[in-house]
Amino acid sequence: MYHRIMYDRQVPVGSYWEASAGGPVAGCDSLEGDVTADVAIIGAGYTGLSAAYHLASVDQLDVRVLEAGAPGWGASGRNGGHCCFGGAGLEPHEIKKRFGEQVAKANIATQRESIELVDELATTHGFEIDKHGSGELCFAHKPAAMTHLRDEAAMWKALGGFDCELMSAQAFKERGFDGPNIHGGMLFPFGFGLHPMKYARSLAGLALSAGAVVHSQSEVKSWSREQGVHRLHTDRGSVRARKVLIATNGFTLDDLHPALSGTLLPGISQVVATRELTEDELAAHNWQTEHPLYDTRALFSYLQLTPHRRLVLGGGGGMSGSPRSSRFWERVLRRRIATVFPEWNNVEVTHSWRGFFCLTRDRLTHIGEIDNDPGVFYSLAYHGNGVAMATWSGRAVAGMISGRSNARIPDSMRQPLQRFAVPALRKSDVYWRYGKRLVADFFQ
Ligand SMILES: Cc1cc2nc3c(=O)[nH]c(=O)nc-3n(C[C@H](O)[C@H](O)[C@H](O)COP(=O)(O)OP(=O)(O)OC[C@H]3O[C@@H](n4cnc5c(N)ncnc54)[C@H](O)[C@@H]3O)c2cc1C
Repeated sequence: MYHRIMYDRQVPVGSYWEASAGGPVAGCDSLEGDVTADVAIIGAGYTGLSAAYHLASVDQLDVRVLEAGAPGWGASGRNGGHCCFGGAGLEPHEIKKRFGEQVAKANIATQRESIELVDELATTHGFEIDKHGSGELCFAHKPAAMTHLRDEAAMWKALGGFDCELMSAQAFKERGFDGPNIHGGMLFPFGFGLHPMKYARSLAGLALSAGAVVHSQSEVKSWSREQGVHRLHTDRGSVRARKVLIATNGFTLDDLHPALSGTLLPGISQVVATRELTEDELAAHNWQTEHPLYDTRALFSYLQLTPHRRLVLGGGGGMSGSPRSSRFWERVLRRRIATVFPEWNNVEVTHSWRGFFCLTRDRLTHIGEIDNDPGVFYSLAYHGNGVAMATWSGRAVAGMISGRSNARIPDSMRQPLQRFAVPALRKSDVYWRYGKRLVADFFQ
């Protein structure tokens, strides 16, 4: 669906996170020879690693993780570092409309729990993940956007029972940052910023220490079945297991499993990082906050100032995945920096990268077992907000796999996967979503 370079594990990702995370995780050799396990997991991002850790530690199962690159090679090691609410591509009021109020409330409770889970894992196990801020700060890029933020705050109060703090332009400029296009803001009370690759590698280390085996450079190339046992084949070996978890999210290829074919829609997000900003440069925009931030544009940007004072800013990444399109979207992000932070117009961008997030037709996260292929589980589609939710879903699907419990997974996440009406044309859905957002930004 996208340019082949997006899937090439030999091409450096080029992310600031990769460059600043220290060495790779030790003990993740590629799979050599034929082995057996209780559970084989495909993909070593947050979903696969969280599932591996919980299956190995809570259920004492023999777990093998097969990763085509290295742990965190996918979106987990290259995202914006917002540990925040998310998962579905629907707003809570839309979930309420489709599934009722109880499910919408359960969904919100799950999102809160997912952030707490990341925090708890990091604190309990001493992860060094550059955690910063408490909450997410949204800034209104035009006066009319404050109406939207007021409605949003009212919606969270009604369905989530918590307050979001609305800020005047002046208050935002005093507590967030100052700039020419700030018309107010909102402090969302949950979430924090982190270093995504350090977090992915910490999770990998935790899974290893719990007894799971993680194999890098071990892409699952084919899949056979022998008397109720699955056998996953890589270039140099195979894993036989009664249970398999598909945790490949936006990097899932259509031929991995027939039940998933045509059901997932990867989207691209591009990110840039600047060099370290000086104290004077930060003062020029009265930078005051440690919270991760985003804006109210329909084609929004998400950003954080790292503890090392680099601005990391991401947004849309286009629809082709070619190197040329990456350069185009990098220029778009540079322009966004110049618009929001004119004083930083000439600050060098040192890193630029992109990756796949994952959408579905019904815009829901999906956790489940494949109907006509017992023992094959999946946890997928966090719609660009999976730092917390993929961690939570990995734990949830681990409970399903071991037969412990799935009672706490909201109904909206247990719906069957839906194939796109014309899978070959599903990318037109991305064009449609981009188009709608461009129009919204232009006219509203
Ligand atoms: C640029 C960008 C910015 C983002 N920013 C944020 C953010 O700020 N906050 C937030 O909450 N979310 C964000 N997200 C989304 C978030 O990163 C993802 O939802 C989350 O990382 C998904 O984790 P995962 O483990 O399910 O998938 P991934 O981390 O994508 O891992 C899937 C893995 O499967 C492997 N794989 C695929 N096929 C095979 C195979 N056949 N054999 C073996 N391995 C295979 C891949 O190599 C990959 O490593 C962002 C995403 C992107 C791309």
